[in-house]
Amino acid sequence: MRLKKALDRSARPGDGKIRTAERDMVTLGIAIAAVILFVGTGSTLMPKIVEAWFFGGRSPDLLLTNAMLLNIALLLFGWRRYKDLREEVQVRRQAEERARELSERDPLTGCLNRRSGPPAIEALRASLAPSGEEIAVMMIDLDNFKQINDLNGHQMGDMVLTTIASRIANALPNGGILARIGGDEFVCAAPFQFGAHEEIQDLVATIVHKVSAPISANGMTVETTVSIGIARTDRPFGQSTGAETQPADTNALIHRADVAMYQAKKRGRNRSCWFEPQMEDELRFRNELEAGIRAGVQAGEFVPYYEQQIDLETGELTGFEMLARWQSPRYGLVSPEIFIPIAEEIDLIGELSEQLIRQALEDAKEWDASLTLSVNISPVQLRDPWFAQKLLQLLVESGFPANRLEIEITETSLHENMGAVRSIVTSLKNQGIQISLDDFGTGYSSLSQLRSLPFDRLKIDRSFVSELSRDGDGKALIEAIVALGKGLSLPVTAEGIESSEVLSQLQGIGQMKGQGYLYGRPEDAETTRKRLESQNMLRAPHPSPALGERKAS
Ligand code: C2E
Ligand code: MG
Ligand code: MG
Repeated sequence: MRLKKALDRSARPGDGKIRTAERDMVTLGIAIAAVILFVGTGSTLMPKIVEAWFFGGRSPDLLLTNAMLLNIALLLFGWRRYKDLREEVQVRRQAEERARELSERDPLTGCLNRRSGPPAIEALRASLAPSGEEIAVMMIDLDNFKQINDLNGHQMGDMVLTTIASRIANALPNGGILARIGGDEFVCAAPFQFGAHEEIQDLVATIVHKVSAPISANGMTVETTVSIGIARTDRPFGQSTGAETQPADTNALIHRADVAMYQAKKRGRNRSCWFEPQMEDELRFRNELEAGIRAGVQAGEFVPYYEQQIDLETGELTGFEMLARWQSPRYGLVSPEIFIPIAEEIDLIGELSEQLIRQALEDAKEWDASLTLSVNISPVQLRDPWFAQKLLQLLVESGFPANRLEIEITETSLHENMGAVRSIVTSLKNQGIQISLDDFGTGYSSLSQLRSLPFDRLKIDRSFVSELSRDGDGKALIEAIVALGKGLSLPVTAEGIESSEVLSQLQGIGQMKGQGYLYGRPEDAETTRKRLESQNMLRAPHPSPALGERKAS
């Protein structure tokens, strides 16, 4: 049915042309016949009519006179029809022109679009081939467009896109091409003299600079940056000798520019990057990881590991921090440092984290009632307005007491959206969940932020703790953090205790909890269970005398 409609639609414009041409022919035939008749009858009749009217001669045959009048009427009719047809053709031509423009142009920015951009680049390339000029293809992606849309509304988002498009267009040299090929993604191409890639380097620097100027509209001002990937015809930049690659077609060039743009993002955004062949392998690997993570979440390959948390003064185990691991059939046991950022980027972190927390709550239900469970929460999860509800739902499902659950949020989460973080943290806190500020010292939280959020604990980042093992200011820094915690009534946990020297230095500084390889590496659920069993710290179905003894001692 759909195919038939498509065929009908595709048949219509052609049909129209044929019908117009047919009508043109008929009108032309009538006009020619009318002219011939007029010339034939008019040449003999006209002198007779003139003679009869002015000199009283004999009237010409009435039938012939009528035929000539009809002839004149036909001529007039033919002329009018011709004029109408001309107008009709003109309107049709304009409509066709407009339809073509709509199909080739992005309606918002007026740039070429995803369909028309690549052929235009191809045509530019072909036109430059005889002169030996090269072209560079640039993939330009806005760095924070989603945020601009979310925080300032779509109208402002549209304004940003149109402004950026015109800034890029103005920066391009004559003959340059600009197309919008995705929501916040542009591809452009510019010619440059063979070997003079610095021209392109300058052009890209100009674009990066111009685009970053503030954009104001409707009383709001936003700033945005772009990441740019660049690919050039034939040789990738920096490979002038030897390693010639296959001449790339236009689509391959665009793909290379895209790969380079991804690198520019990875290297910190607001910058440009030339394509290099090994980037493609990296991207392939990343895509494989991405696919692996998606499949792994479905297959339940992500598992919680547990790291002990100890009261440094008494040496008692106080709880565990859950740390995610990926048991990948292909890559083995993968660190969260690898898969968490990817899961965040592909918007899978919420689902992954829920899965892990559900498992961890089940595991922790078996632990002694004195032990706490800490879980790490990504900044991406804190942007989800339903996050607090989801976490509470998990607690209700498991029956694990809220006051034994601690969530760890990193300092960097605080900068993203303080308002949203505050409301989530407050509602979790109202349910009795404890909140820790993780990796403290690596971000830039201000004292006012620390005071305005109801944290229960500061976790000193392990980079400061490891400083203690070296000579230097490490100790003074930790003392300062502990004093800060005291001033704000926030207990402290030191991360990354690897040696007994570091432990004794920390014990000398003040009362705190700690965790680190000195007490053991993070372990899977079963090993953790065995550890607790050996320490008599598993909840027995009925209260066991051994547990009572341990508590009493
Ligand atoms: P983190 O929350 O600061 O966790 C502590 C990290 O330090 C863990 O690395 C732990 O294995 C490591 N560590 C502990 N003691 C020592 C030590 O003595 N020396 C050294 N060198 N390292 C030590 P891991 O498990 O690789 O986790 C890295 C980070 O990944 C975590 O840092 C956390 O930010 C994140 N992460 C882990 N699991 C999750 C999760 O389920 N969700 C989220 N959003 N992030 C997670
Ligand atoms: Mg943590
Ligand atoms: Mg940490």
